[in-house]
Amino acid sequence: MLKRKNSIKAYEKAKEFIPGGVNSPVRAFLSVGQTPPFIIKGKGAYMSDIDSNRYVDFVQSWGPLIFGHANNAVEKAAIKAIKNGLSFGAPTEVETKLAQTLCSIFPSIEKIRFVSSGTEAVMSAIRLARGYTKKDDIIKFKGCYHGHSDSLLVQAGSGAATFGSPSSPGVPEDFVKHTLLADYNDIKSVEKCFKESDNIACVLIEPIAGNMGLVPADIEFLEALGKLCDKYNALLIFDEVMSGFRASLKGAQGFTEVMPDIVTLGKVIGGGMPVGAFGGKKEIMSCLSPEGAVYQAGTLSGNPVAMSAGLENINKILKDKKLYERLNSLAKALMRGFKESAAKEGISLQVCVRGSMFGFFFNEKEVKNFDDALKSDTKRFAAFHKKMLERGFYFACSQFETGFICDAMNEKIIQKTINAAGKVFKEIK
Ligand SMILES: *Cc1c(COP(=O)(O)O)cnc(C)c1O
Repeated sequence: MLKRKNSIKAYEKAKEFIPGGVNSPVRAFLSVGQTPPFIIKGKGAYMSDIDSNRYVDFVQSWGPLIFGHANNAVEKAAIKAIKNGLSFGAPTEVETKLAQTLCSIFPSIEKIRFVSSGTEAVMSAIRLARGYTKKDDIIKFKGCYHGHSDSLLVQAGSGAATFGSPSSPGVPEDFVKHTLLADYNDIKSVEKCFKESDNIACVLIEPIAGNMGLVPADIEFLEALGKLCDKYNALLIFDEVMSGFRASLKGAQGFTEVMPDIVTLGKVIGGGMPVGAFGGKKEIMSCLSPEGAVYQAGTLSGNPVAMSAGLENINKILKDKKLYERLNSLAKALMRGFKESAAKEGISLQVCVRGSMFGFFFNEKEVKNFDDALKSDTKRFAAFHKKMLERGFYFACSQFETGFICDAMNEKIIQKTINAAGKVFKEIK
């Protein structure tokens, strides 16, 4: 049995001073009906809480830690930077180094700008797309998450309306009336949006969706999307804040030739520090202030400590030619094991892997979009989550999140996880 005493106490205390006790809602574990363990430290594949429970961590800070917790090289790079000062608000060479490195990796990125979160990256990319095209409307997809900025917190309106309505109080209707909603993997729904508005600045998509569970877009769908954007002079924005350096070295661009006009990055490029970025062709990026008129700024943007940690993370990735092959084979083994042991108990599990990302749905049918995902058995997921946690395996606390393999994991850890899952499937069938 898990010891929970200290975490429960810490959670009560946190709730007195922080809304819901957390600084990002999913961390509260509400969707699995539990209270969150409070973490004290991590090393490699493992993470420990303040009750001295130790977990194999398949969340890895929601993606950034591709080499696992407290990686020596990344830690060293950050500490070295810290000793020279935490922040200057003036240019440093490490920003150029990371920018040059990212430009050399992504064929579609010629120039890039750094911000401090994925939310900021996408928000800024949209402003840039609007400034560049001189158009106002954007198309996003149901089930794709792009951070919490106003115009992106949108869900389906009633009936056949494709114009979105806010999915949070505090977001005025007026702010989201420029956001049109389409169905993931459904090109007709995108065409419909283009017919409804002749003012589309950009189509924003997670080309490998990781925020409704793991649901990659079909390659043909992305190709058709690229063509539609060309036809209507709209920019295509790939939000690869999660899939960048996770699905492959080039994110979705490792799977498709489709060239987005703007790519947003985050998570892995900060190595665990707060970093986001958006980049694209020179012609588009030069619209940004001070070269152009589109305003965008940040006191801590390009922070030297964050840049140093990020650069080390990316350089480590580049040095290791077999990295994604290893991570992918572990992810595949895990999902194969889950599927087989679930099937033994008569449980139908839909599994998916892209590079180091994995996802599993308690669902009878293959999941291609958000509506499919919503048909999953979230009660069964919650039971699975709780029982795995009790056995020392920390999975994302929602059916609609993606799991992550880190390089500190190995076949033995994966096999132990599969064995535990086998027992849990028996208990929850
Ligand atoms: C995490 C994520 C974001 C938001 O990034 P934050 O750093 O949490 O603001 C945006 N888009 C995608 C695809 C993400 O996975």
